[in-house]
Amino acid sequence: MRIFVPTELDQTERRVAVVPATVARLVKLGAEVEVETGLGKSIFFSDADYQGSGAKVSTDRKASLGAADLVLRLRKPAAEDVAALKRGAIHVSYLDPFNDTALLQKLAASGASAICMEMIPRSTIAQKMDSLSSQANLGGYVAVILGAERLHRIFPMMSTPSGTIAPAKVFIIGVGVAGLQAIATAKRLGAVVEAFDTRPVVEEQVKSLGAKFVKVDLGETGQTAQGYAKELTPEQLEKQRQVMAERCAQADLVITTAQVFGRKAPVIVTRAMVDGMKPGSVVVDMAVESGGNVECSKLGEEVLINDVRIIGLANLPGRVPRVASEMYSNNLGNLVDHFWDREAKTFKLDPANDILQSCLVTHGGAVSHEGLRKLVESKSKPSS
Ligand code: NAD
Repeated sequence: MRIFVPTELDQTERRVAVVPATVARLVKLGAEVEVETGLGKSIFFSDADYQGSGAKVSTDRKASLGAADLVLRLRKPAAEDVAALKRGAIHVSYLDPFNDTALLQKLAASGASAICMEMIPRSTIAQKMDSLSSQANLGGYVAVILGAERLHRIFPMMSTPSGTIAPAKVFIIGVGVAGLQAIATAKRLGAVVEAFDTRPVVEEQVKSLGAKFVKVDLGETGQTAQGYAKELTPEQLEKQRQVMAERCAQADLVITTAQVFGRKAPVIVTRAMVDGMKPGSVVVDMAVESGGNVECSKLGEEVLINDVRIIGLANLPGRVPRVASEMYSNNLGNLVDHFWDREAKTFKLDPANDILQSCLVTHGGAVSHEGLRKLVESKSKPSS
């Protein structure tokens, strides 16, 4: 089986899909691995490093895409890369499936079996392949480091002969994978941390990290079978906002991570709340790429509003590209390994498999994932 790993087309992306250690693992399974020249350059892996792990180096992207049985990458493919795929090839990457339904249609038309990394299920067995978690964990760390650097004060309390410095106050909204890591990182640096999430099950996790859980009486909330938050009603969001305004006003650093899977992120920190914050304080909006939790955050920018800095930088895991690549590469390696037929030395693609039922989104010339097929159909209906 031929596996090809093309370079990322987005020039701002410093993460790479596969590192040499994963190449060695795939070669050991019996795969023929080819990487595009320059693949690891952004994280200081040379072509020779990949060759040393058993890969061939390709200088003809189109030909290698056309010859591969399995393509592994990070970001979604460009239309010309989809067009270059061999019919029936397996393609694994992020696909942004809820927004880019046109890409799903192109992948289906190309005959590719596309595995979507955003759709890996939240099951114990699939955890090792879950790149949303591996990247969110690093994003949570980066958000705190970024916020700490922009603050005009320090995190830990210090008692010195020159005086006592009070610890910084950090408020984290949304305690999933990123939020938990943000709490842990801020605590390690010595801040006083409090956090809020609409899922009540999170309270214990927050407390176990030594942070305070902020309670808001929202009535019925809960989570989906996959562990994701359910969307709040407008009344619940309004109730939440009242408490958020109070907590933001006393915080030095606010980090928002609140997402609702497959939907636009909820707006939680309003302009009025930002106006109520202390001058010099900082807000990091980690949900900025899915619409933003902060009313005045701008994607890819840092904005100052009445001396409050709102950070809306994208791709926070990409700021620690070496480890983010290693984690993503491990996720891909674990996925291939899990489905590898050791006798036939191929990826065994069984659409009825539990994991693949969630994340195999195109197969046999069609959009095979039921929910996404409905979404594609609804988007392609002419509006009356
Ligand atoms: P996510 O990125 O979808 O959302 C981040 C957090 O925002 C979530 O905790 C969510 O409850 C919260 N949120 C949503 N709306 C909110 C609002 N209005 N106000 C405040 N918070 C709000 O979540 P995630 O990080 O992907 O994780 C969700 C859960 O799934 C976590 O409990 C995580 O531990 C669990 N998980 C399980 C597995 C597994 O079992 N394999 C893998 C990954 C995550």
